[in-house]
Amino acid sequence: MYLPKIDEEKCKQCGECVDVCPADVLGSDDEKTNVVNPADCLGCESCISVCPEEAITVEEI
Ligand code: SF4
Ligand code: SF4
Repeated sequence: MYLPKIDEEKCKQCGECVDVCPADVLGSDDEKTNVVNPADCLGCESCISVCPEEAITVEEI
């Protein structure tokens, strides 16, 4: 399993990671971008690649 995390201090709410994630793991509401569905994470690291703020980490657990 994989555990994606978003560093709230770094995240600028651009939404790129939400758009790129193939498994709908990430989502955003009016205030911030969140990991909403961690169990579905594939560990593909596309979110890491796309994030301009280097705010995302994906740990294998
Ligand atoms: S590693 Fe892949 S599946 Fe997991 S949150 Fe990032 S984009 Fe989504
Ligand atoms: S791509 Fe990075 S900066 Fe943009 S919403 Fe996702 S975590 Fe935040």
